[in-house]
Amino acid sequence: MLTYRKCECCGAQFIAARSDHRFCKANCRLINHRAKKSTPEVEQAKASLFDFYKQQISQLSKQEILGAVAELFAETPEDRRNRKQSMLYKLLNKESQHV
Ligand SMILES: [Zn+2]
Repeated sequence: MLTYRKCECCGAQFIAARSDHRFCKANCRLINHRAKKSTPEVEQAKASLFDFYKQQISQLSKQEILGAVAELFAETPEDRRNRKQSMLYKLLNKESQHV
């Protein structure tokens, strides 16, 4: 039975073909799915990880950063495939080992 329903994501009215249809379009279903998966704990962990790396990067010298960036641009696709860790990653690890 076709019924009018309000989308639980964007609030738009849509015609639901089945009683378990809760969203007006696939995108709304996807947004809702992602929102459910991303818990505050995960968001918090992401933010603190980002802060950690931002702080680590800020401790590197200009030369170290430029060297890492230059290496990234200079390497071939094969190099990239064979590389397990980026220069920046190595630099960051080197820095954190001293702490
Ligand atoms: Zn919607």
